[in-house]
Amino acid sequence: MQTVSAALMPIPGHIDPVPVPRKPDAAARPDGRVDLVGLSKEQLRAALLDAGMEPKQAKLRAKQIWHWIYNRGAVEFSAMTDIAKAQHGWLAERFVVGRPEVVEAQVSSDGTRKWLLRSADAQDYEMVFIPDADRGTLCVSSQVGCTLNCRFCHTGTMRLVRNLSASEIVGQVMLARDSLGEWPSQPEGRMLTNIVMMGMGEPLYNFEQVRDALHVVMDGDGLALSKRRITLSTSGVVPMMARAGEEIGVNLAVSLHAVTKEIRDEIVPLNRKYGIEELLQACADYPGANNARRITFEYVMLRDKNDSDEDARELVRLIRQYKLPAKVNLIPFNPWPGAPYECSTPERVRRFSEIIFEAGISAPVRTPRGRDIDAACGQLKTAAERKSRAELDRQAEEKLAALA
Ligand code: SAH
Ligand code: SF4
Repeated sequence: MQTVSAALMPIPGHIDPVPVPRKPDAAARPDGRVDLVGLSKEQLRAALLDAGMEPKQAKLRAKQIWHWIYNRGAVEFSAMTDIAKAQHGWLAERFVVGRPEVVEAQVSSDGTRKWLLRSADAQDYEMVFIPDADRGTLCVSSQVGCTLNCRFCHTGTMRLVRNLSASEIVGQVMLARDSLGEWPSQPEGRMLTNIVMMGMGEPLYNFEQVRDALHVVMDGDGLALSKRRITLSTSGVVPMMARAGEEIGVNLAVSLHAVTKEIRDEIVPLNRKYGIEELLQACADYPGANNARRITFEYVMLRDKNDSDEDARELVRLIRQYKLPAKVNLIPFNPWPGAPYECSTPERVRRFSEIIFEAGISAPVRTPRGRDIDAACGQLKTAAERKSRAELDRQAEEKLAALA
């Protein structure tokens, strides 16, 4: 097992991209084999070439293996019947078709499923599946923990942070398909129809791996999820938003949560770096946003903090000012032990929603799902070590003092 170095520590209150370790390199698997999941078609072919396969063979085999991995869900080379038997052993010595290790799997009374997963270097992260009448949404993690420390978010209190690799991100989707029994891939009647990058972590602080993973997930010869059915949620990493639109092109959700500098600075510390105006301008410029593909503004309802009539009216004003094709998702705050906030009252949430609706903007209230298994997105709880809020605040103050 790898030892955990000080470099893995996030700095509480830190708002710059922290150079968190990327992945245990593919080659760094304890057994030295390379995981093929999450590689692009080109990378898969290159991996076979690097291992010494002859170029023409590598081209053919890469195509076949890709098909077995993403259309059939095969995890053993011995199952790949159109590949010469004699080659199965050679492949298995050098490669694996991996899955994250499942530490725990839970099913809620409402059908929501939650998995606690473990990486090869023993770090835990979570994934949630939310079935609805007409769709099934998988909530995928992009990092172990998060460096951003939003005050209402449980993930932000986790001590360890590491970027997940493309392999680990695609691995979550593969595992969900395994457990839903969705192999071979079918274009119709799937349970897993949508993906939201709303699990642990800030996806735009792990841009390349998230982008590469989503390209694999969207590939028409494989999992073939349409970009219209994938949503990336960011707390507002402004400099990466245009690239996300251009290079990934999925739907955008923005965790706005407040309409004044004072309150957003407090609850989403990244606001001190990229303010509301800058953020909304980046939304207005987001490639691909239009009335048919609206930007979702997520707004967590915190009692007496961001939930007044005035806040709702200011939200409407801002959306109009920036001419945003927008919808608002009101999220009842999901409390966790030691959280410094409470959820707004149901009447408050209803009134807030009405004000926005009356202005002609859709503002549904997200129904909490999987509460009995603590499965709400963004509230993913793991066995990983955590610091108390007081401790995080103290360190944030020290950090700020050091900067002054
Ligand atoms: N880091 C990204 C994506 C993960 S968080 C982001 O912040 O957008 C996914 C969503 O869950 C965000 O809108 C987040 O604000 C919300 N969330 C986090 N903690 C929550 C809580 N305790 N209750 C309700 N929503 C929460
Ligand atoms: Fe990170 Fe998102 Fe949680 Fe903020 S809300 S701490 S950005 S996971």
